[in-house]
Amino acid sequence: MSDVRKTRATAPIMSLNAYENALTQFAQAAQVLGLTKNQVAMIKDPRKVIELNLPVRMDDGSIEIFQAFRVQHSVARGPAKGGVRFHQDVTVDEVKALAFWMTMKCAVVGVPFGGGKGGVVVDPSKLTLGELERLSRRFFAELAIDIGTEVDVPAPDVNTNPQIMAWFMDTYSMHTRKHSPGIVTGKPLEVFGSRGRTQATAQGMVYTLEEAVDHLGMQMDGLRLAIQGFGNAGSNSAILLAPQGAKVVAISDVTGAYLNEDGIDVDAAIAWVGDHGGKLTDFETSGVATKLDDPMALLELDVDVLIPAALENQITPENAPNVKAKVIAECANGPVTPEADAILNEKGVFIIPDILCNAGGVTVSYFEWVQNKTGYYWREERVLEELDGIMREAFQTVLRSALKHDVPMRVAAFIVGIESVTRTAELRGLYA
Ligand code: NAD
Repeated sequence: MSDVRKTRATAPIMSLNAYENALTQFAQAAQVLGLTKNQVAMIKDPRKVIELNLPVRMDDGSIEIFQAFRVQHSVARGPAKGGVRFHQDVTVDEVKALAFWMTMKCAVVGVPFGGGKGGVVVDPSKLTLGELERLSRRFFAELAIDIGTEVDVPAPDVNTNPQIMAWFMDTYSMHTRKHSPGIVTGKPLEVFGSRGRTQATAQGMVYTLEEAVDHLGMQMDGLRLAIQGFGNAGSNSAILLAPQGAKVVAISDVTGAYLNEDGIDVDAAIAWVGDHGGKLTDFETSGVATKLDDPMALLELDVDVLIPAALENQITPENAPNVKAKVIAECANGPVTPEADAILNEKGVFIIPDILCNAGGVTVSYFEWVQNKTGYYWREERVLEELDGIMREAFQTVLRSALKHDVPMRVAAFIVGIESVTRTAELRGLYA
């Protein structure tokens, strides 16, 4: 889990409304598909928005209230599915956007889930471990009546981690008096997690990037990369891509952005983070990289591939004209605003959109849920082999849709997602 207090190394995340952006993306694809009013009504809006005020006893004996949300956007294709974010800037609109993207993402990769997301308005770096555990347990205890292995299955997101998922699973199991490992995914291996889940988001991105590189006639060997965010998605992206001959020129996290034109020693960066509370604090003193004066300059570096792996709304109309990357692989959700998208498309930047690119996480979460339901646990080779097949097939499906409709990959991915959800919703029909 990474800490997000202190200096801001990216643009303020809610300077733009993520849910409005999500609806703009929906409208673009819906227009190409010529959806009817009824079809839009069936799938666009979230089905359930839960708002909670969580009382938590702090270490000094005081009680603090934390605002929290869980949004179940769609249950047409299966139980709602999506992570829980702990961040001081969480809003209900952000969670609605993330839940909507989950619906689309699950449909794009064909895993049998709807879309959901949760968020707690908190800066977890300000809590002690005990306070963090009590907050996590209280959130899950309050949510217990609205979730279930066949209802809504949470997972990790920004600032939540396998330990928090273990507390979630334990809280729910104690409440229901039933061993319920499938209530949440992204758990530690010892608490019925899946092999391969930790690196799944980055691994899925790598499979789609390999497909994109192949499609564009480029080569993985020698690719110059910049990665924004060095948590689960970002650091695992660096770990997986460096051995393929890619040069990780720049990395960043909440503490700043760090550059080495000859390639950052990824092992050294991982070790540094391990020794500095999960952050790149003072990484420039390691001798491995220099610190950029403006961390946002990372997004404008002369690289082949840019991997946003932090938060929403990082590439905006202000900096999009200066982006030099040929490919953007969106590990983060919603890193590019719709206006910036138009500028990047005009420039010919190939974007692997979030609802495709980072779907490896939910795909292995699906494998974890299946393993929990059957009680039979897979070897890592099986996880990777199945993930590989699903991600590459999804990439090719989206690419075919892009070529067929003559639209960018993002619109194509939404077309694939919307067609799938609409078809299921129509076949199921309206109950009562
Ligand atoms: P994380 O908490 O593990 O890491 C987040 C990283 O972003 C940290 O390095 C943090 O320092 C950095 N960060 C936070 N605020 C920042 C800021 N203002 N400027 C620069 N860096 C900042 O979270 P994660 O799980 O890696 O998630 C990152 C992104 O990937 C999110 O958009 C998330 O929704 C998306 N994602 C994650 C998963 C997953 O399985 N974890 C799956 C799909 C998508």
